[in-house]
Amino acid sequence: MTTMDEYNQCQEAVRRLHAYLSHELAPDDEMLVQSHLTRCQGCLAKFTFEEALLRTIREKAEAVHAPDTLRDKILNLLHTEES
Ligand SMILES: [Zn+2]
Repeated sequence: MTTMDEYNQCQEAVRRLHAYLSHELAPDDEMLVQSHLTRCQGCLAKFTFEEALLRTIREKAEAVHAPDTLRDKILNLLHTEES
């Protein structure tokens, strides 16, 4: 069941998407978005997708500037942390 209220919450969450991912939100707003994401699969998917996209763009930007050896070192570090 989707009420008008839920629809508005999604609109509010999506409107804050980029500010949230850039950590530019006020703590209150950030909490609002976070609590919405725990309840809303649709927005969570949207946020996860955007976050992955931003990370890819950032990695590509780094790859252009960093020499291969440095990039490999960074990638190795990241993989070690993830596992
Ligand atoms: Zn939502």
